[in-house]
Amino acid sequence: KDLFLGKRYESTAAESAESTSAPSERYEYQAEVSRLMDLIVNSLYSNKEVFLRELISNASDALDKLRFLSVTEPDLLKDAVDFDIRIQADKDNGVITLTDTGIGMTRQELVDCLGTIAQSGTAKFLKALKDSKDAGGDNNLIGQFGVGFYSAFLVADKVTVSTKSPKSDKQYVWEGEANASSYTIREETDPEKLIPRGTRLTLHLKRDDKGFAHPERIEKLVKNYSQFVSFPIYTWQEKG
Ligand code: ADP
Ligand code: MG
Repeated sequence: KDLFLGKRYESTAAESAESTSAPSERYEYQAEVSRLMDLIVNSLYSNKEVFLRELISNASDALDKLRFLSVTEPDLLKDAVDFDIRIQADKDNGVITLTDTGIGMTRQELVDCLGTIAQSGTAKFLKALKDSKDAGGDNNLIGQFGVGFYSAFLVADKVTVSTKSPKSDKQYVWEGEANASSYTIREETDPEKLIPRGTRLTLHLKRDDKGFAHPERIEKLVKNYSQFVSFPIYTWQEKG
């Protein structure tokens, strides 16, 4: 079984016609991811703010990875931008944007990383969940193991990941929704959304979680997590 490859569907004519140039393609999550998403979306887990810790740690990992790889492949740094993390809170629209200038992802890496569970923390979480007879057990396990990228769905009903790897000349957009068994990938064609390198996550917050998009709240959370991050983190708010 192709455990590490999302199943690929042909994009429909309607989808292709709708988009300006590049059609979006739909992929099915690996079964374990679907299960995990179900758990996260329907969980009564109250400590939802851990999503920010997980996403900042991914951004920091991506910057670390780039720094490490660029020692032997200096070409990866041909787009001269600083190593940093930027978090923008748009409270009027209930949207949080988190941008890093790290290693980014190629199209294949998007499929491999955000459609399957290859990483250890989440796999451990699922194993612990299996081992746990306690029906309410998952509530504590989410915090204990961390559910990585998918923790975005603790607070968001739609997540967009626009990413540009220095190994690819194209930027790609991954889009997933809570309660969906599939996600889409398309090429980024909007010139205003192009980034030189790295990854931009856009979280469209659930109605009840829009309060996370307040700059003061983000700043407070960032203060807690940033002490473990060796790159600058900037926070600001949408002018309105
Ligand atoms: P983990 O961080 O434990 O590997 P996650 O679920 O948090 O698991 O992330 C899954 C994978 O997705 C990461 O290993 C990484 O390859 C990729 N990824 C997530 N966020 C980013 C990012 N901001 N930049 C580049 N790659 C990322
Ligand atoms: Mg992670």
